[in-house]
Order: sequence, then C-alpha cells, then structure tokens
Amino acid sequence: MKRILTGDRPTGKLHLGHYVGSISNRVRLQDEYECFFIIADLHTLTTQPQKENIEVLAENAREMVYDYLACGIDPAKSTVYLQSAVIETYELNLLFEMLVTVPRLQRLPSLKDMARNANLAEMPFGLLGYPILQSADILVPRAHLVPVGKDNEAHVELTREIARRFNYLYGEVFPIPDVLVGDVPTLVGTDGSAKMSKSLGNAILLSDDSRTVEKKVDSMYTDPNRVRADIPGTVDGNPVFIYHDVFNTNKAEVEDLKTRYRAGKVGDVEVKQKLTVALNAFLDPIRERRAGFEARKGFVDEVIYDGTMRTREEARATVVAAKKAMGLTGVWNRISRKAEDARKKRAKEPES
Ligand code: ATP
Ligand code: MG
Repeated sequence: MKRILTGDRPTGKLHLGHYVGSISNRVRLQDEYECFFIIADLHTLTTQPQKENIEVLAENAREMVYDYLACGIDPAKSTVYLQSAVIETYELNLLFEMLVTVPRLQRLPSLKDMARNANLAEMPFGLLGYPILQSADILVPRAHLVPVGKDNEAHVELTREIARRFNYLYGEVFPIPDVLVGDVPTLVGTDGSAKMSKSLGNAILLSDDSRTVEKKVDSMYTDPNRVRADIPGTVDGNPVFIYHDVFNTNKAEVEDLKTRYRAGKVGDVEVKQKLTVALNAFLDPIRERRAGFEARKGFVDEVIYDGTMRTREEARATVVAAKKAMGLTGVWNRISRKAEDARKKRAKEPES
C-alpha cells in the first residue's frame, strides 16, 4: 500500500484553512493509503525556541488531535505521531542537509514570509533548514504522497530533489513523493488577507462555537466600496462569497445571493447571516464528534502514543536502509569489528 505523510505544527487548534488545504484530503484518502500524520513540534522551534513555547506543545498537540478525530481521521486506520519523539527524524535531517545548497533554500519564498511573520531580523540556521526537516519528515515513512496547502508545495518539490539526489548518490532508498494540494489551495482569512492563519488572527476554528462563528462572520471583510446595500457589489475575490462557495451546500442559495449582490439587491447582513448558518451546519458534526472524544479521558494521548511507537519502527528501518546505502554503517562496522577482534585476541594472550 502506498503511503501518505502530512501534518501540522502544534500551534493551537486547527481552522477552516487547515481543513480545506489538507485535512479533507487526509480523511478522503485514509482507505487508499497507509497514512502517517505528523504533529510537527520540532518545527515550532524554528521560530519559537523559548521554554514557555515548548511547555505548551503537549496541550497543543492534544487539541490538534481532537480536531483530527473530529474531522474523521480514524486512528484505527491512520498513524498520528509526535515528531520530536522519533529520533530518526533528527538523523535523516542531518544526512539530507549535506544534499542541499544554501542558495536553494534562500530562494524559497515561504521562508522569507515566516521570518517576517515571526518578527525575526535575521534568520536562524534552523529556520533556513526548515524545509529540509520537512523533507526528513516526509521520507521517514518513505511516503509517496503529501497532501498540503499551496504554501507547502515548494517544500515537497525540495523533498523530491533530495530523494532523487540521495538515490543517485547512494542507491534507491526513497520514493519520489508527489504533492497533493487541496481543492482550495489557500483559504483567505476573514479579514480578506491572502491566508487564513491563527497567528494573523483571521481564522475561524473548527472548534469555535456557533456564537463565535456568528461574531467572526459579522465582522468579515467584504466589498469595501459597498457602503450601502443598493450599490452593486463585487463577488469575485470577496471572502464572504469565497466561503459561501466552499462551505454552503445550498448552491441555489449561493447563486441567488451572488446575483442579488451584483445587482445591489441584497445587504451584507443577509449574505453574512446565511454564511453563518452554512458554516455552523458544516461545523456542527465536527463539534459533536470533538465533544465525544473529549469525554474519553486519555484517549488522544493513547492515539499519539501508539502512533509514535509505530512510526519509530518505520523510522528505524528507513534510517538503517539509508545509512547502509551510504556506506555509513560500514564505517562503524569496520572500526568496531577491529576493536572487538583486538579485545578477544588480548583476552586469549597471557598477561605479560
Ligand atoms: P497557522 O499560521 O494558522 O498556524 P500554519 O501555516 O502554521 O497555519 P501549518 O501547521 O504550517 O499551518 O500547516 C498545516 C497545513 O495546513 C499545511 O499543509 C498548510 O499548507 C495548510 N494550511 C494552513 N493554512 C492554510 C490556509 N489558509 N489555506 C489552505 N491550507 C492551509
Ligand atoms: Mg500552525
């Protein structure tokens, strides 16, 4: 069976952007692929290495896994694991670092964005290497497919280059993984900015209650030129309509709202009220399932524990294969064998 690897940084609860960018694909492909979902806690260190940020990782991981389960990720089928507890990730990361040039990394636009968002004047070495660590994540279970949002596409391309280079230098160990971008490559934020993101404060969480969703939708950015309901409005690129298109299952209602909006025959209030209803209808079953899992004390921890143990086995096998192909195992073997031989020989010889 082919494999999937994807995941998220445990920075808190997940939002609609995570869902459309990656989670919906994960849920859909669970039966077709053997899935590994990574809680990428090491990745948070690239911008937040402070101890107080590390202390919250376990709780953030739990919250995230509740979201996974609520969306339909099934631990009986899929493996959910904690990145920092799989030591082989660090090993593979170092080996891959030798196969990538610095300018290749510096050209990635995602890195510049991350440094800017984290208010970092200068880039830590680990942040520059973030896409290499991601490549290690993908290749630890030797995954064939990586379902991610658009912002991660370039990182999968880098992973392909690393896998090809490794295989060329040392022999076939890794598959060349394909990227699978979600139906909505990048979901806009409620404020109209390009990407819904928790750190930008423009996210609707999968666990938000209906009143919170209503408030967030009420204050959503729409067409700024439309100061009155009788002014014709712009539908294209309008976040309220983008959300309608994605989440409102009543397509006739959406078309009617668009026609009236363009003609200046509907107020923002009605468009938003209907969006609130649609979003809450989408989120209700997710909220319900989340509550069910939250009631099962310790269950998420067991899911993460079992998944991590399972991934450790896979990771060990991968690193053994990689080091063997490189001849690295042989370096140690030659030395350790000689050392053992010498010891044995000395033990046989009488003390002089
Ligand atoms: P946030 O800034 O809200 O914490 P993030 O970008 O840090 O989000 P990651 O943990 O880095 O989230 O990414 C998890 C996955 O979700 C990735 O595949 C990413 O592409 C996807 N993703 C995150 N935000 C969006 C979005 N607004 N639209 C589509 N996909 C998204
Ligand atoms: Mg995140």
